[in-house]
Amino acid sequence: MKAVVTGGAGFIGSHLCDHLIAHGHEVVALDDLSTGSRSNLDQLMDDPAFTLVTGSILDQGLVGDVVAECDTVFHLAAAVGVHTIVDHPLESLHTNLHGTENVVAAAAARGARFLIASTSEVYGKNDADGLTEEADRVLGSPLKSRWSYAAAKGLDELVGYVYARQSGLPCVITRFFNIVGPRQSGRYGMVVPRFVDQALAGEPITVYGDGDQRRCFGSVSDVVPAVVRLMDTPGAYGTAVNLGGAEEVTIRGLAERVIALTGSTSTIRHVSYADAYGEGYEDMRRRMPDTTRARDLIGYTPRHRLDDVIRAIVDARRSTPAGAPLATA
Ligand code: UDP
Repeated sequence: MKAVVTGGAGFIGSHLCDHLIAHGHEVVALDDLSTGSRSNLDQLMDDPAFTLVTGSILDQGLVGDVVAECDTVFHLAAAVGVHTIVDHPLESLHTNLHGTENVVAAAAARGARFLIASTSEVYGKNDADGLTEEADRVLGSPLKSRWSYAAAKGLDELVGYVYARQSGLPCVITRFFNIVGPRQSGRYGMVVPRFVDQALAGEPITVYGDGDQRRCFGSVSDVVPAVVRLMDTPGAYGTAVNLGGAEEVTIRGLAERVIALTGSTSTIRHVSYADAYGEGYEDMRRRMPDTTRARDLIGYTPRHRLDDVIRAIVDARRSTPAGAPLATA
């Protein structure tokens, strides 16, 4: 395949580029390097099958040109991370709405297969014991900035879904549940790289709220091959598929594990949501995927245990030269 990966310099995008190149495909990564980083792609720069195009998905002409050369589009570019969404709500909405419209329209015009990276955030505060793809969305007020990401991603899904229905666009929607691994940055909010960096620096680990909120972290190494297999699976077209892990932890439990696995002297410091994100912030107590659909479609089974993923992140952080910028989202 000749694939475009929007957001190819980001955390998941760069791992996807690695995987596609390793499997003999041609790849064009399109990234504006706002939260992504060229250093995530250093290992591919001399490969003749790989090209990095630096530019925005908001540039309709550029998106059209890049997609016109390809047969498959993985759309991962987005404004991501709770801090990004809360601190830059307008730019985030603009990127996540209009950017996606540009990419879907270009894929449809080209007749390319299309994958849109969505998120467990679309389920909002639904804390069911295993969220299936048909589960209700429980969102807070649109006046609370946190929910703008879920609102935009929900609309992105709808655009992909409607294109699939109306024009037969082969479109897969993947909903990522707290995916973690090397190269993810804590700069934009994500908890695991933040805790690892704090532990390695011997600083207090900042647990927001009471720490009893639960998440189920998935490994990027499980998710990337699944994304590629789903693109090859017509039964996945025109629907959404959850992708994530199977091991649920409390955020306090995560902090304790990171301290143990790094041998850190860090203590745990509780920080109120208001201090972390500003007044009126709402968190969800729990978010746990049901990945039965992915299993039925492609035999998806998460294989990487959270402790092993944390160890891999710690190793990657330790090998980052002092003073070098940490890899980004
Ligand atoms: N969190 C935390 N300390 C941090 C960053 C995040 O306790 O330094 C919490 C956050 O409030 C949430 C959980 O960790 O309850 C996961 O946060 P993240 O932003 O990684 O993902 P999401 O909120 O989208 O699940």
